[in-house]
Amino acid sequence: MIPSLQEAEVAPIIAGYWERAEFPHEVVPKIAKLGLGGGTIKGFGCAGQSVVEAGLTCIELARVDGSMSTFLMVHNSLCMLTIDLLGSEEQKQQLLPDLAALKTTGAWGLTEPSNGSDASALQTTATKVDGGYELNGCKRWIGNATFADWVVIWARNNETNQVNAFVVKKGTKGFKTSKIENKIALRCVQNADIEMTKCFVPDSARLPGVNSFKVRYNPLSIKTQPASMNGSI
Ligand SMILES: Cc1cc2nc3c(=O)[nH]c(=O)nc-3n(C[C@H](O)[C@H](O)[C@H](O)COP(=O)(O)OP(=O)(O)OC[C@H]3O[C@@H](n4cnc5c(N)ncnc54)[C@H](O)[C@@H]3O)c2cc1C
Repeated sequence: MIPSLQEAEVAPIIAGYWERAEFPHEVVPKIAKLGLGGGTIKGFGCAGQSVVEAGLTCIELARVDGSMSTFLMVHNSLCMLTIDLLGSEEQKQQLLPDLAALKTTGAWGLTEPSNGSDASALQTTATKVDGGYELNGCKRWIGNATFADWVVIWARNNETNQVNAFVVKKGTKGFKTSKIENKIALRCVQNADIEMTKCFVPDSARLPGVNSFKVRYNPLSIKTQPASMNGSI
């Protein structure tokens, strides 16, 4: 199924998208039709794959174009899996079904301009305010973020000095994304710089499973799950 999609629908068009450094949104409904949304997550309309199946999906997508594989792994493994592992039941019910059907898309923001490998030194802050949190800081290289409906943002809570995570909705005031231009590889992946300036998110946006960087599943281990098979993140 995946090889025929890739060979019939992606291979003929992808070189043009690569040249223009654009993402082929037209392919997304076709990926959704194959039921690949949600990868290893069980329930909520997700694919419920084994890790091996998710890895093979990634390899098959990458065989024709690495950008398509990166798109799905950022969506499935970074964004959705984080919500599934660390979100509340309500957050999962609200977000995962549409993400699984690829009616909405996801991104995941950990890396910052001055903090890549040393991710735990992140400088983005979350300040508790009435009814929610105010996020301030910058993220860099965030895949899918120029168009994603939901972006998981990792930030340091000013009160506790510990790392928390928040699901930020596209269009939130104070949340600005700009595309990173002139890449020499994975040109169809839309990597963004994110700037958060007094970006208010409600209490309900905070993932309750993250009370420090030592979450039940370390964010770096989420980051390097099937996504690592791209060799790109
Ligand atoms: C296509 C693409 C997509 C991405 N998507 C996302 C995403 O969706 N979300 C996200 O949060 N991030 C994303 N990233 C960012 C990625 O995770 C970071 O680039 C990565 O963590 C490395 O950080 P850095 O670029 O700051 O490099 P650096 O941390 O500056 O590292 C540069 C080099 O120095 C080496 N190095 C660093 N520290 C040490 C040390 N102490 N000792 C020895 N060697 C060291 C590293 O191994 C590397 O070779 C993406 C990046 C790319 C290129």
